[in-house]
Formats: sequence, structure tokens, C-alpha cells
Amino acid sequence: MEIFHIGAECYPVAKVGGLADVLGSLPKYQNSENYQVRVVIPCYQNIFRLENEFECVHWGKIKLGNFNFPFSVLKETTNKLGFELYLIEIPELFDRPNIYNYEDDIERFLSFQIATLDWIIGRNSLPDIIHCHDHHTGLIPFMKKYCPKYHKLKNINTLITIHNGLYQGIFSFNKLYYLPEFDLIHIKEIERWNCINSLSAGIKCADEVTTVSPTYLKELNYSDNGLETLLQSVQFKSKGILNGIDTDVWDTNKDKMLDCNFTVENSAEGKYKNKEKLCLQFNMNPMLPLFSFIGRLYNEKGADLLPEIILTSLIKQKKQINILILGYGDPVIENQLLELKPIFKGNYNVYIGYNEELAHKTYASSDYILIPSRVEPCGLNQLYALRYGTIPIVHKTGGLKDTIVDFEENGNGICHQESTVSDVCCAINRALDLYKNKDKFTKIRKKGMHTDHSWKNISQEYLQLYNLIITRRYEN
Ligand code: ADP
Repeated sequence: MEIFHIGAECYPVAKVGGLADVLGSLPKYQNSENYQVRVVIPCYQNIFRLENEFECVHWGKIKLGNFNFPFSVLKETTNKLGFELYLIEIPELFDRPNIYNYEDDIERFLSFQIATLDWIIGRNSLPDIIHCHDHHTGLIPFMKKYCPKYHKLKNINTLITIHNGLYQGIFSFNKLYYLPEFDLIHIKEIERWNCINSLSAGIKCADEVTTVSPTYLKELNYSDNGLETLLQSVQFKSKGILNGIDTDVWDTNKDKMLDCNFTVENSAEGKYKNKEKLCLQFNMNPMLPLFSFIGRLYNEKGADLLPEIILTSLIKQKKQINILILGYGDPVIENQLLELKPIFKGNYNVYIGYNEELAHKTYASSDYILIPSRVEPCGLNQLYALRYGTIPIVHKTGGLKDTIVDFEENGNGICHQESTVSDVCCAINRALDLYKNKDKFTKIRKKGMHTDHSWKNISQEYLQLYNLIITRRYEN
């Protein structure tokens, strides 16, 4: 069976968040004699593109309304990621350093989707499954189904995974002429609240819809992001499948980014050695418990709560803890976090920016990781933290609810009911009590490290789903 994963990010090629981690690891675990897995993402201007060898396997020109864009398809020659990687190069739209947040993102990702389908239709053999990821690829199932230009692709089965339902690729009907021609009788398939909505089009037209955790699927059925009724109506073809992690990349014993490798058995000493180095870098005392936050600094992540959490807990705990923040995003939050630096020098520090190596070092060094997200479709931070011996302190929502159980209930972390400053500060107090009870603390830390969240088993769930979709098509 040939499977195409199509999305906007893929680690280590181009990463903003968890979507990249999934596209860089799930395909690797699916690729085998029976399943030939390809990953297709846009070709951004980045180090991976410069430092690796590619061969051009296709070129052409796409039409986006009145515009024509030349494009080429580049294949990474060595398959070093564990699957075939293809980059869609559209120089005018993607030869830029960042992945998102350009004014013409709609034109960029629509062109990417059209170029991908134009290439696929010209290949000698067609894939069995096109697995779309998030709204950047949400119009593929629609175009494949309803644009006569792609009629030849009509028997390919499609699946869309919602990694984050907050972002939906919404644009005005003024840009309808960008799409390849189709019978307007089908216009309802791309419409939601009088706009074109890429994610909802994907949900309506794909053969199967998945979310990255079971609880997130339930939440999307009643949360207020405008997709509730739609998701309720497609329950028959929806499933929540928890994300896995790449245990080859996230391995405390082999991770080259760490100052000191360690195993479950020597985790106390190993983690402390890493912590010493990190604390030296950030001017903190390694003898104190280290609480960290790693992530995008946006309200959905509860990052707006961080300044007050830092103020409250450092004052209350009389500076007997360390807090380290790694992230970037909302400039208001970034500034608030930076302003606190001189006030709590020695106990608090912040790194504004994206830094993969620092993230690895921080997971390895911390005692606790704060994840106060208001919305968390799956969350990979808590899974990396568990594997690296860092106890997660989480708001009980989405994938956090599916993966973390409070230690008082024989679990692997600390949970709080609301995403509020007071709930997080209470959880920090409970964490400090636990920290004093070394035996219990070590037991919970080790329990987390032993938990298996690898893709090995979970990737099978997707394979079963692909087979199910194909069987269903033959039966109908
Ligand atoms: P999301 O995809 O919503 O941002 P996830 O928890 O699913 O959240 O995934 C976040 C991923 O991005 C993790 O691999 C995390 O380590 C990484 N990450 C987030 N912010 C940073 C940062 N500033 N520097 C390095 N890695 C980061």
C-alpha cells in the first residue's frame, strides 16, 4: 500500500510545533515492505534544504486564478529520515525563512495543495491513501473529489488529521477563482459561515477524520470553535488516535544534545549533571527544584498566566524554586516575561526563541514541566517530559487528560482542574511537597520514564484505519 502524508511541517526539515514531530516520526514507523510511505511538504528556505541532496522528480506550472507559478518536486536522495521525503518548491511563495504568518498564506498553501495534486496525477502509479494534516491540506479531499481536473484521482482514499482545530484556513469567496474549476452544486462542501473554510472542507470530504487524542475529539464536539455541529454530523467517520513519540530521537541514553546521557536506573545522578550545566548557563542554583515551560507563548497554551505564576510562586516560596521558560510568540507575553528577569535574577530566566537543543536539555534537566494549556489537542511536551524523567504539571484537558493521571490517584504527574494562576500555584505547592518526599518523587519519575508512548503500537492504529477505509470503499 502506498501512503502519502501531506502537511506543512516535518521534523527535522521544518518545525514550529508538534505537527512537525508527527510528520517526521509516524511515517518512519509505518514504512515497511507492505507500506510505502512518502511525506510531502513545501520547500522552505532553511538549513535542511541547503545541507542535503535533492533530485528534481517533476516540474510544472500551477494556475492560481490569474497567476501562474512554476514549481518543482524535489526528492531527498538518501531517504535518511526513514521514508521518502518530497519538497514542493514554489520559489515565489515558499523561498522564505518562516513557515507561517505571511500575508499570502492562503495563496501559499493553496498553491502547495494544487501543485501536489498536479504532481500526483502525473505519476505512473497512484497512491492508495492520501493522509492530510491540518487545514493547510484541507482542500485536497475536496479538489480530489469534485474538480474534474483530478478525476483520475477519484478512487484514492483520503484521511484528514486535526492537529489543531483553532486554525482553519478561512478565506473569502472573493478568492474562489483560485480553486480549479468544479460544479458549483458542490459549493456547500467548502463553505462554513459564508466563507471558504479549508479545515471544514477536509472534514466534510475526507473518507475518515482523526484527531490527535480521544478527549480532543470529544471536546471539539462541544467547544466553541465553530466546528461542533459539523463534527457531530461526521461522528460515523471520526476517531481520536493519541500521538506517539519518536523514541529513537527522544532517548536519554543516546541523545547527542544532552550534556550527560542517562538511563532510568541512574536518572537521579544523570539528570542532576544536566541540571548543573543548564543552571550554570541560566544563573540558577541547581540544588533547587527546577520548573520549566517549553512552548509557543500564546493564550491557548496558558502562556499569558506565566508572568503571574512566576510572581506569585517565587514570592510565596521565598525563592526556593527555579523557573525557566523557553518559547516565543505573543510579543506582549514575551515582554512581560523579559521584564521579570532582573527582578527574580538567580531563580528565574527566560529564553525567547526556538531552540531544539535547549528544549532537549531542558526536558533532561527539569524536575517539573508546567503545561497549563487551555486547549491541548494532544501535547507532546508531557510525553517527552515523562520519557526524560520530568514530572508534568498539567491542566486536565485534551490529550493531557488522556496521558497524565495525578500521582494521588496512582498516576504519573500532577493535574489541576482549571487553567488559572491559583490552580497552577496550588499544583506547584503540591509538587514541592512531593519533591521533599524523595522516595515517592523518584518512584513517580521512574514510572513516567517506563511508560511506552512510542509510535510502535500507535502507528498500527492508523494502518488499520487505512485498511478499513479501503475495505469500506470496495464494499460500497
Ligand atoms: P504545539 O504543536 O501545539 O506547539 P506540542 O506539545 O504538540 O505543541 O508540540 C510542541 C513541540 O515543539 C515539542 O516538540 C516542543 O519540544 C517543541 N517546542 C515548542 N516550543 C519550542 C521552543 N521555543 N524551542 C524548541 N522547541 C520547542
